[in-house]
Order: sequence, then structure tokens, then C-alpha cells
Amino acid sequence: MVNIFCYVMFFLYGISIGSFLNVVIYRLPLGIPISKGRSFCPKCNHTLKAADLVPVFSWLFLRAKCRYCGDPISKRYPTFELLTGIMFVLCYAVYGLSWYTVVGCALMCVLICVAMIDYDTMIVFDRWHFILLGIAVCTYLAYPQVSGNAFLKIDLLGRIIGAVAVGGGLMIVALVTGGVGYGDVKLLTVTGLILGWQLNLFTLLLGYVLAALCMIKPMLEKKVKSKTEVPMVPYFAISCAVAFLFGDRIIHWYLSLF
Ligand SMILES: [Zn+2]
Repeated sequence: MVNIFCYVMFFLYGISIGSFLNVVIYRLPLGIPISKGRSFCPKCNHTLKAADLVPVFSWLFLRAKCRYCGDPISKRYPTFELLTGIMFVLCYAVYGLSWYTVVGCALMCVLICVAMIDYDTMIVFDRWHFILLGIAVCTYLAYPQVSGNAFLKIDLLGRIIGAVAVGGGLMIVALVTGGVGYGDVKLLTVTGLILGWQLNLFTLLLGYVLAALCMIKPMLEKKVKSKTEVPMVPYFAISCAVAFLFGDRIIHWYLSLF
């Protein structure tokens, strides 16, 4: 019973925070202060009431239209609310009721914001890297609580190697070829401190595999030329989330094949 209660609570917290993340993703690139004023309809500027802001449900009840001007409300709002809810539930499912789960939920929030802002604007704000640095310190402090069942032991040295090897490697590629953005370099450096070297290498590889898979169709349709700049942060954000939640098991399974 306690278990089901926790799943429901993590989901409800997740969709509520997801609703806030939508505000961050929308306002931050436009320079609108996040704390300033109530939410408003971007079309008619009408201030939204509490009943218009219930995560997922308001969108369903309003049939995806603004109550005041009838302008369609994008599917991405409920999608990211649901996604945040699901990520919170997964963090709880994997790491149980622990501080590591709480830090993991914070990590998922940052990854969603960084990925979506990069996808929308190709900008990665430096403040995210500082927040991730704080999350790295928290994961280090909370890790002993969940390390018992882990196959990979993520120690301080492993974290530093993860940051220096992957971040430094990408930095060299960025300097020599210019084919890597500095936003990606900084992101993969801090994720090294969160994940340790094995899982950070996993994040790097999976990110490129995901990007390559997503590029096949547009490339065949000639929508993307080889020199088109592709925002990589969304792919690395997904691979980092996968590494944080399941990387340990995936690497354990992979090594057991030999
Ligand atoms: Zn409106």
C-alpha cells in the first residue's frame, strides 16, 4: 500500500513540477522573469486561473484550447507534464525512497529544461551547468545510500575521470574540428561528475547513436545537409537520463554477455 501511495505521490509531484518546467522553458529564452506574475495565455495575454493550470487535466478538459480566446494550446505542455511525472516515478522505482531519488528528480527537471531550450533556441545557458554542478555534489553525498546493489561503484576519482576524460576529449574535438558545441562540452563535463567515467562514456555514445538514428530519415529526404547544425543537447539529455536510471544494469548485462 505504501508503495502505491509513493508512486502516486511521485507522479503528482512530477506533473505539477512539469507544469512549472513549461513556464521555465517558455520564459527563460524570452528573458521574462520566472517568478514574475501569474501564467498567461501567450496569444490573448489573459491571466490564467488556478482551474486553467491543473497539470494535464486542464488541457484535457479545455480540449486543448484557451478558455478565453479559443487559441489552440500546444500538445507539448501536457506532454512535458506527463514526461516529468513519468521520470519522477522511474527515479522512485529504481532508487526507492531515498535522497538519491530526490536528487535524481532534480536532475531530470534540469535535463528536460536544458534539452527543450536547446531544441527551441540552440542556446544552453551557463546557469544550468552550475545547477548540475550542485546536483553532482548532492549525488556524491547521497550515493552511499543506494550504492549497495549497484554493479558499478561511482567514487570520487571515477567522477573526476569521467568529467576530465569525456569533457576534455570533446573539448579537443571542438577546438580541432569545430564539430562539437561548447554547450555539449560543458554538459558532458558536469554529467561526468554525476555519473562517473563508465556511465558518462555510455551517455556520450548513446547520445551520438540516438542523434544518428534520428538523422537517418531527414538525411534520406535531404532535409538535413551534412553541415546543418544539429542541437545535440536533447540527445545527451536523454542518454544521461537513461544512464542515471538504467546505465548500471545495461553495462552489467552487456559485460555478462562475454
Ligand atoms: Zn487565450
